[in-house]
This record gives sequence, C-alpha cells and structure tokens, in this order.
Amino acid sequence: MIMGATIKELIKKEPNGLIARAYAFAEKAHAGQKRKSGEPYFKHPLATGEVLQSWHLDEATVAAGILHDTVEDTGVPLDTVKKEFGTEVASLVDGVTKLGHIKYRETPAKDGGKNDKDGAEELKAENLRKMVLALSQDLRVVFIKLADRLHNMQTLSSLPAAKQKRIALETDEIYASLAYRLGMHNVSGELQDLALPYLHPREYEWLLSIAKERFAEREKYLEKIKPQVKKVLEEHDIHPLDIEIRAKRYSSLYKKLLKRDMDIERVHDLVAMRIIVATLPECYAALGVIHEAWPPLPHRIKDYIAMPKPNAYRSLHTTVIGPEGKRVEIQIRTKEMHDENEYGVAAHWLYKQKQEGAAVSGKKLAQEIAWVQQLKNWQEHFAGNADDPEEFVRAMKINFFTDRIFAVTPRGDVIDLPAGSTPIDFAYHVHSEIGNSATGAKVNGVISTLDHVLKSGDVVEIITQKGKKPSEDWLRFAKTTIARDHIRMALRKKNTFARSLSLPTHAELRMTVEDRVGLIKDISGAIAELRIGIISFHTEPATGKTYHINKVEIASTDKKKIEKLAEKMRGVKGVKEISYRLL
Ligand code: MN
Repeated sequence: MIMGATIKELIKKEPNGLIARAYAFAEKAHAGQKRKSGEPYFKHPLATGEVLQSWHLDEATVAAGILHDTVEDTGVPLDTVKKEFGTEVASLVDGVTKLGHIKYRETPAKDGGKNDKDGAEELKAENLRKMVLALSQDLRVVFIKLADRLHNMQTLSSLPAAKQKRIALETDEIYASLAYRLGMHNVSGELQDLALPYLHPREYEWLLSIAKERFAEREKYLEKIKPQVKKVLEEHDIHPLDIEIRAKRYSSLYKKLLKRDMDIERVHDLVAMRIIVATLPECYAALGVIHEAWPPLPHRIKDYIAMPKPNAYRSLHTTVIGPEGKRVEIQIRTKEMHDENEYGVAAHWLYKQKQEGAAVSGKKLAQEIAWVQQLKNWQEHFAGNADDPEEFVRAMKINFFTDRIFAVTPRGDVIDLPAGSTPIDFAYHVHSEIGNSATGAKVNGVISTLDHVLKSGDVVEIITQKGKKPSEDWLRFAKTTIARDHIRMALRKKNTFARSLSLPTHAELRMTVEDRVGLIKDISGAIAELRIGIISFHTEPATGKTYHINKVEIASTDKKKIEKLAEKMRGVKGVKEISYRLL
C-alpha cells in the first residue's frame, strides 16, 4: 500500500486489488441511492474509506470501510461479501452493521433530580462504550465506525433537527469518548467539535463571538514569533521537523470555560505552539533552550513524557513569557509521540507498516492506557508480540466480556445478558410484562424459538399476545434470575387461579431410594430429560435407615408424561419404589 495515497491513486496502482474491487462493488450496490443531502450515496462509504486510508490502516480495513453500508442499506447478503472479499473483510463489515443497531438516547428524568440523572446517564454511556467494544470483536471495526461517524457528522446538517440532536449526543457520549480512550485525540476532538453546535447551539454562537477574534490575534502573534523560536533552536543544533500553530478546539475551549466561570481571560492556552523534534533527548534539549531564551511561568511546566496522561498522551508542556511580553504555550514532542497522541491505537498500524518503533509503542501502550482491565490485557498481549504481524492482527480481536452478551432491541437499546441467554431472558429484561406475554421471538428478523441461544449483536424482537401466561417449560431454558423469578411468580399466580377451580397444578413424585453418590443428579437428570421443571426436592429418612424417601414436586400435570417419567425412574439405580399424585 502506498503511504498517504488517496483511494483513487491506490486503484490506479492496483486496478484489480482489493480496494479497487471494493470500490466497484460498493459503487454498483449503492447505484441510484441518494443521501438526505441529495448527493449520491456512494460518496459516503467512499469518504469513510478515504478517512481510514488517511489513518494509514490496512487494506482490509479500507476495503471494509468502502463496503460498510452495503449489507445494511442495499440488501447485499453478507455471504456475497464473504465470497467476493473473504472472511476478514466480511467480518469487519458485519461488525460495523451490528454496531449500527445500537442507539444512544437520553433517558427522560423521572423525578427531575438532575444529579441522579447525570449519574445514571454516565453509567449508561459507559456501558454502551463497553458494548461497542464488545460487539466489535475487532478494534478495526471501531476504527471503521469512527470514520463512518466522522463523515456522518460532517454532513449532519441535512438531517431533521430531532435526529441531529440524537446523533450528536451519541457521537459526543459514545464515539468521541471511545476515540479518546483509544488515544485517538484528533478524531475525538473533531467529533466533539462537530457535535457541539448541535448540542449547545446558543453557547456555540456565543463561543464563536468571543473566541474567533482572539484566536486570530493569537495565531498571528505566534506565526510572527515562529521564525525566532526556530532560530534559537537551530543555534543550539536542534532542527525541529515541524513547528505547528494550533488553536484550541472549540469543544475543548467550551469545557475549559465551564471550569473558569465562562471567563475567556482565564484561558491561557487558546493557541499553542507545537514543536516536533526527531528524538526524545531533543525534546528536553529544546525545552532547556526555550527556557533559556524566554522565562518560563512557574508551575506551568508539565512533563507528560516521564509521566504520561492516563490515556498515554506524551508531550512536554510549558508556558513562557515570549517576545513583546506575551504568554506563549509551547508543546514539545517527537513525531512518534505526536502520531500516537493524534491517532492513538490506530497509529500502531502506521508504525507496524513502517517496520519501526513498534516495540516501543506497544510496550508503552501496555503500561499506560488505563481503561477497562480487558483492554489493558489486550495491549499487554499486543506488546509481547509486536514483532509478529499476524499476531498483531490477532491481538486486534477483542475478546473481553466472554461471559456476557449484548443483544439489541429493534429500537436500538442494548440488553446486557449472561452468555447462554435466550429470548425469554431478553424479554424479561426489557419488561416483565413483555416476558409474561411472550409467544415467540424474531432474531435478526427470523422467527426463532424461545429457547434459542442469543449471540452478541443479535437484534431481538419479542412477539407478545395479550393475556398469554408463562409456561413452566420456560424454567428449563431461562438463564437469568430476573427471568426465572418472574416466571415462578407468574406460575404461582396461575396455579392459585387453577387451584381456585380445584384443578391440579403440579405433581408430587414419591420415591423410596437407597441413597448413593450421584443419585439426586440422576433423578433430576431424568426429569429434565422429559423437559419437566422441578419445583422442590425433599429427602426424609424412612424407617430402617437403609432407605430414604424422596419427594419431588414437579411442574407438570400431564399424566402420560408423568407415567413415562415414573417408568424411567424405575430404571435409575437406587430407586426402589415410585408413586405419584397430582396436586
Ligand atoms: Mn455509514
């Protein structure tokens, strides 16, 4: 792959390559489709691929970026993508499609208690961020989703206002935050900047009115002193690769103003000068030279190289009294630190492909990115294998939360369940009434049984019928306590009703047994095999001590079935006698 090339250039170089084929395939699949803005739809997936290419990601990721909306929006079966482009690309596309089913929206506050609500929202957002990672299975899916979201945010103005607000909120709470945690500061900041005018339109207007001129004024001043800084450094034999003048992002200015009583005079780093040097020793040398030339402000020197931020950000920061007695914020870092600060985890692809610096970056990340322990484990894993490209790709696979699955409602709400859960568990976790009146389920649009085992990313729709009551059979496959408790409660009610009509509701098996290790297991196994629920199990000593009486209450009144069960029980070693009665 050519570094820094555009997709057009890549296609020209390899007209039959993966990216060229993805381009042709997606262009055809989206033919005739328009975006809300009236533009041809294909512009969007192409822009997504272009962003991924600009992050120097691998070919499969760029191709999957171009293909990312074909399955969801054009009805191309995933199998076709698999046949055309292989499992790797298909699984990336599938991951992005699944992520598209998650929707974040604010929960309306029930009691108006603002603090409570904020706490709950934060927890919900945090869970959603984890779910995005869990659903992704592969970090490259997150990269594609971020690139997709970046372009969607750039074109958000053509959507209806209510949708704009929801998407902007989701972008800010979930995706910008996720990008930040992955150390992708540039992406995170850009997403936040794009969301700000939709989330706080009036504040944004005000921000522009107070900051725009100040930004311009500061930029002009820094541009003016830039040659002086360069000269001072060169006199000491430090040759900066680049000196950037960077205005603070509006979104980060807004956050800072909230902490400074909205007083812009108290924000000193409106525009910063960023010095990129070749080596780590040069960072410190440059800092010394700058401090010699212009006096530093005390307490403003920060060494994020020796002590990186929790998200692995590395740089030296200082504020000096520059020419004309004006304050100058200066950041000093190497190119590698800079790329990692801007692109985070994604930067490793760049270094991997350049075949340099990978070991350093991997180790550093392993030590410094602190988030969920699982993510850390992933990095440690990666750090230990940074020299093996195949191992690196394997390490990108996210495999945390192996004991949880995340299923999605048709509205896009995520339901967090233990692995092995079924649509019945899902139904009760959405609402007890939905559980109680469930008659069937659709999983990813396909009718399925209530005992179907769900996977992460499944979209589950529960079919309900008014007046329907739970079946005791459900206890056999309901996995969660919430579901089981509700089923039992509903059954008890049902039984009380049946009892009032003097109808039997369950049965009792009475067995004389000679106890042995494993007997109870064999008895309950035989009952379970006939798919009958056990309500209770009692053992009492019988006369003579050799034998015991076991009484098992079972959730069935089906005589034929119970007969069959009794027959079976007689074959269990240790069971001497068996009788039953309906209760
Ligand atoms: Mn898209």
